[in-house]
Amino acid sequence: HSETSDIERSKIRPVGKMVDHEPVVPENLLSLLEWTSAYYHHPVGETLFTALPTLLHQTRSLRARPKTCWALTESGRALQDDAVKGAVQQRLLALFRQQHEPVDETRLRAVSASARQSLARMADRGWVEPVACPPQALPDTAPADMNQPTLNADQEAAVSTINAASGYASFVLHGVTGSGKTEVYMRAARNMLEQGRQVLILTPEIGLTPQLTRRLERRLGVKASVLHSGLSDGERLQAWRNARSGCARLIIGTRSSVFTPAPDLGMIIIDEEHDLSYKQQDGLRYHARDVALMRARREGIPVVLGSATPSLESWANCETGKHQLLSLPKRAGGARPPAIDFLDMRKTPAPDGLSPQLRDAIREQLDKGEQTLLFLNRRGYSPVLYCADCGWIAPCRRCDARLTYHKRDQRLRCHHCGADFPLFEHCPDCEGKNLTSVGEGTERIEESLKTAIPQARLLRIDRDSMSRKHALEDALAQIHENAVDILIGTQMLSKGHHFPNVTLVGVVNADSALYSTDFRAPERLYQLVTQVAGRAGRADKPGRVLIQTAHPGNAIYRQIASDDYPAFANTQLAERRDIGYPPCQHFALLRAESVKEDAALQFLEQARHTAQALLPDTVSLSDAVPSPMQRRAGRWRAQLLAQSPQRSALHPFLDQWLAALDQQSGKKRDVRWSLDIDPMEMS
Ligand code: ADP
Ligand code: ZN
Ligand code: ZN
Repeated sequence: HSETSDIERSKIRPVGKMVDHEPVVPENLLSLLEWTSAYYHHPVGETLFTALPTLLHQTRSLRARPKTCWALTESGRALQDDAVKGAVQQRLLALFRQQHEPVDETRLRAVSASARQSLARMADRGWVEPVACPPQALPDTAPADMNQPTLNADQEAAVSTINAASGYASFVLHGVTGSGKTEVYMRAARNMLEQGRQVLILTPEIGLTPQLTRRLERRLGVKASVLHSGLSDGERLQAWRNARSGCARLIIGTRSSVFTPAPDLGMIIIDEEHDLSYKQQDGLRYHARDVALMRARREGIPVVLGSATPSLESWANCETGKHQLLSLPKRAGGARPPAIDFLDMRKTPAPDGLSPQLRDAIREQLDKGEQTLLFLNRRGYSPVLYCADCGWIAPCRRCDARLTYHKRDQRLRCHHCGADFPLFEHCPDCEGKNLTSVGEGTERIEESLKTAIPQARLLRIDRDSMSRKHALEDALAQIHENAVDILIGTQMLSKGHHFPNVTLVGVVNADSALYSTDFRAPERLYQLVTQVAGRAGRADKPGRVLIQTAHPGNAIYRQIASDDYPAFANTQLAERRDIGYPPCQHFALLRAESVKEDAALQFLEQARHTAQALLPDTVSLSDAVPSPMQRRAGRWRAQLLAQSPQRSALHPFLDQWLAALDQQSGKKRDVRWSLDIDPMEMS
């Protein structure tokens, strides 16, 4: 890879030290990163930094540092035994001859206390030389688990279609929850491994990796190299090296592992492809699924996007034939889909968040010895604290938001900027003592269950209760051992987990999505409720789902209940087409923020003005408007949307516009701004 530049010679500094003798980033990965940088309009240097393990930013060598190997040179190999003087040198020579390959320096040093000096003397004579260590194969785990189910016809069809792919092919594996998608991944992965290829599997969440990893390792009989944000820098570098050298055959990781080098990559699998965590929301705002698709295309390999509720982007691509749709419409192994019912909260008093029907249903579960999962996407005790005397509501002073009351810690916290205060003892406005909390979070549900069903064993799973390392793993183990009767959790609990004894799922409150201004809110609501509902009755016992709502007749809830994702997706797509929203049109969102009240909006108005001269016919610009949450963490925020039916028109325009904006903002340092390509959140 070589490039020329016309930078002035005087500005170029000499190379200080050659850290590696081969490029750290292999050619194909570098060109993927260049594409990523261009597509997301992000500087190429920062793109590389996002993709590479931190230690490689700090000129850490690609070679594992403490491991140096030595080998005999030609003259070393030709040595007669009696030419070598000294017992230590003779033992070293014997060790080299016995190994037939480079020997680890640590092994050589173990020969004697003076081995180091002897080795140096042999090197001086030209008998031995330092060489790169051969890649260390990871030990295979126990022999592959032969205890695998017989595939049903839908799975069989999916597996054979994937296995028949040659070259680039993209598949959407749409399988209802519990339909055996993972089983399909495993067969397809095995097929690739048997052909001597590497397989990369992306998963949305660190919490899911240990489970998925164990399951895959046991089945496939190979050790996986796991990359996720919970690794130390050293561990991450090691996993990355193993993938890059080809030692790791199975690579499992979260978002950023889409950039893992792998010389023999044969397939990429993206589990829960609709998941929002695949989109990075700051810095390089890339979408790992889209990067994976581009990578597969460039490397000429198949890619599988699996989900019970595919993103509308992927769904639309199936319609146009860009992706091939593979369907698993039934639960595997005889499990039945859960029955979904609605509890009309307009008719039911529920002062602490749980309707009497839901409580009764939970009690029945206890009698049967089965588990219940309660889902609520809000941590803390209550989202609002207000003064019953004067009506004052505890606000965050840095955001357009209210403070959440955390009862256990007796704190008020802002979930947007992290502000954290001790609880007020009286109202700051009227000095009144009647501070009252309204609405419910996971802590409140936990408390009300403690009172209502004291004999139940409760486990709350949210970011507050699971902050300790391994806390989630421990919690999952407890659930599997049946040491818990009721799980109360946020989104953390909704994904992928397999709890055979959970037969009742209660959705405490998901209605807020119905009032959201984000055009993706219905899609998210569908995905979320389906994921949560999918935790119910996954084994031989049938499951039941109760959804508390003030809008039981809402069309989205009805579609969720009838479990007809294609129907839902098609109606949503038709609406998006009518109003010109993604995936029918392509968005780029310019965001700006400033500590000065009007600066962000003014910057965007100016940006809009600048754009007019550059704007092609097929690209349109919205007005510059305040963001849905106009103030966050003490900054005033605004946004401006560019959209077009054609990426090929949008992106060249963005290039020109960004160049102009760089000049515009050169003078104004009080505004921070960024461009989000294919934004997933319009906030
Ligand atoms: P998904 O990933 O679609 O949620 P899984 O692959 O985790 O589904 O499968 C759900 C459960 O069904 C697992 O316990 C799995 O072992 C089982 N299973 C999958 N395929 C079959 C099959 N063909 N026959 C019997 N059981 C199966
Ligand atoms: Zn008051
Ligand atoms: Zn705040």
